[in-house]
Amino acid sequence: MNQELESYVAGLDGPQARFLAAALCERFRREEQADDELAALLADRRAVATECEQRVQLSKTHAPSESTSSGESVGEAIKLARLAAGDGWQPGACARCRCALEGWAERVAAAEALGIPPPVYCDTCSRDLREHDARERRAREEEAAAEFRAARVRDAWGSIPERFREHRLRSSLCRFLARPEALEDARKVLTLAKNRPVVTFVGPAQSGKTTLACAILAEIIERGAARGADAAMSRRAAGARYVYLPTFVEARKRSPLNSEAPAVVQAKAATVLVLDEMGGEPESAREMVGEIIQSRHHENRLTLITTGLKGPQVAARYPGGIVARVAWPQQATIIDCGPTARAPEAT
Ligand SMILES: [Zn+2]
Repeated sequence: MNQELESYVAGLDGPQARFLAAALCERFRREEQADDELAALLADRRAVATECEQRVQLSKTHAPSESTSSGESVGEAIKLARLAAGDGWQPGACARCRCALEGWAERVAAAEALGIPPPVYCDTCSRDLREHDARERRAREEEAAAEFRAARVRDAWGSIPERFREHRLRSSLCRFLARPEALEDARKVLTLAKNRPVVTFVGPAQSGKTTLACAILAEIIERGAARGADAAMSRRAAGARYVYLPTFVEARKRSPLNSEAPAVVQAKAATVLVLDEMGGEPESAREMVGEIIQSRHHENRLTLITTGLKGPQVAARYPGGIVARVAWPQQATIIDCGPTARAPEAT
């Protein structure tokens, strides 16, 4: 791309420039002289050139209500087309494949009536260019969607406290911390052999409740983020979240009056949610915790709850119905992490 041409393009505005941009892109492609930077600069203008062509087609069937007749725009367009199509191009031929354009005179007349450049591509080339645009647009959209998912997966990872991020059910810490029965039950949750929406990890402090819950969450994120994961798995990974209840309530305090805090909305909508340390939140937040659990149960979304509370304590503290969701084996999968495990040896 020589500088003269480049500055010429830069100085143009409106449909003419877009048309030239389109033609130049095509010429580069044809001559395999692609200038990546310029092509990128011009790419989005090509769609508008196509639109110009469509407007001309329309003008053949619908008389324009407002004429902005300008023979100059046609003359300018032809000048631009010659510049773009390269040596030897003549008006009336396709600027891409050089075939003779049918009804050239009518096309010019219609373009003149609308004050826009006449189309200089044959129907086949117009279609090729449109399809090329559509493919490029789809590729851009897919790329953007993949980036968006990747960012959400990063958020999902980021929500898990660092010290719980590294462990999986198969890793040595889980085998060391958890009772074999608890580990087996956790595996069933992961493989959906136990598919109730609420899974409650019970047991005293240091019994491995959070480690197990986070190991399941981490494994779900890891599988969904892996190359080749299906769409459902990758959606599940992108929407997974960990919430530490003793500090979660502050998110609600920061929200404007009468609107649900984004953190609460997110907790309700998460594909898989760890609610860590139920009972550790301030009394004022219990209703909100109950609401999140009820809403997720209703939507059949997997919620992994860790708590040191026993059934009667849950019944006494939370609104009606929560105890059944969380602590009744008929409704929830209860994973008993048992007595406090030996503390891992400091190494
Ligand atoms: Zn053509």
